[in-house]
Amino acid sequence: MSTKLSLTGLKRSFKSFVSRHEAIVLTYHSTLPSQTPLIPVPHHLDGDLFHDQMHYLVSSGFNCVSLQQLAEYIKNKSIPSRTVAITFDDGFYNNLSVAFPILERYRIPATIFIAAGYIGSTRLNWPEELAILLTLANVPQLKLADRDLAIVSSSEKAVAYEQVARHFSMLDADGIQTCLKNLLDQASLSREDLYRSPLYESLRFMTWDEVHAMAKSELISFGSHTVNHRRLVYLSPDDAQQEIAQSSDIIQQQLGACAAFAYPHGRWHKDFNDSHFNMAVAAGYDIVVTADSGTVTTASSPHDLRRENILNGHHLAHFDYLLRGGISFAHIRSRADVVRGMLTGCTQ
Ligand SMILES: [Zn+2]
Repeated sequence: MSTKLSLTGLKRSFKSFVSRHEAIVLTYHSTLPSQTPLIPVPHHLDGDLFHDQMHYLVSSGFNCVSLQQLAEYIKNKSIPSRTVAITFDDGFYNNLSVAFPILERYRIPATIFIAAGYIGSTRLNWPEELAILLTLANVPQLKLADRDLAIVSSSEKAVAYEQVARHFSMLDADGIQTCLKNLLDQASLSREDLYRSPLYESLRFMTWDEVHAMAKSELISFGSHTVNHRRLVYLSPDDAQQEIAQSSDIIQQQLGACAAFAYPHGRWHKDFNDSHFNMAVAAGYDIVVTADSGTVTTASSPHDLRRENILNGHHLAHFDYLLRGGISFAHIRSRADVVRGMLTGCTQ
């Protein structure tokens, strides 16, 4: 299906758009330069797809607003139909190099939640190290625990990424580093190879100078994503409190304000709990967002805004499906049903 045909079909389906007075907050992470030769990784969205999604929002008449404007709507108990707010998590440099020009072109506001300790760091996180490792690896397979992972084709490497990432999710930081070193050895690569790769520049975090450059735009605001991006439920109450409050202090020192907060990973109960909610409120944030799926209504609390995660596989048909109310269905339908709904939308 060509982009032109897709857009025609989507505009037709837009006529049936559910005109509820609800808003959708979208979560992005990384927006890669077009044609970046990285294996497919869910949170690294192709920049061309990001462009198409922003163009679709504007050309279809969506009301794209900042989180601050959305909080005002909630306060006034009136949310215009088709309201969308854009957010980015983590603080990737490609938010500046790729997403920002597109947001400026279409005059779309966005909030970028930065892990303050990442900003200015030359270290990549393990998902990015793993993605580069698998992209560069030139061996037929890697051994992970008792499994052999085929990594000849790009699609095999993408599957391997998911399997390794799942394995890493069960390890602590030292365990992850040990396992990464083992995978590097199997691929005859060094950590320096990862950082010398041209892919590094596409995957690194912003510097504070770059944050300041973006913050000059009236379209962009920055929020806190803690200091070290740790799962709050794994921390002591004191450490969690420090992650939540200190990140606000750092960003306020740099930018003069920090009104919004996003929990790392962001799912209630799994990644944060009620005590972290109370800490975020006590830290003075006006707006708090989660990674729990759902829409925002006039009954929503600005301290508990749900979001919808946009991943690299979410092409325009799925994007349209979400915007037409697919996320509400997701609450009551199984994940398999949601996928079936997406496929149905794609083939119509
Ligand atoms: Zn994050």
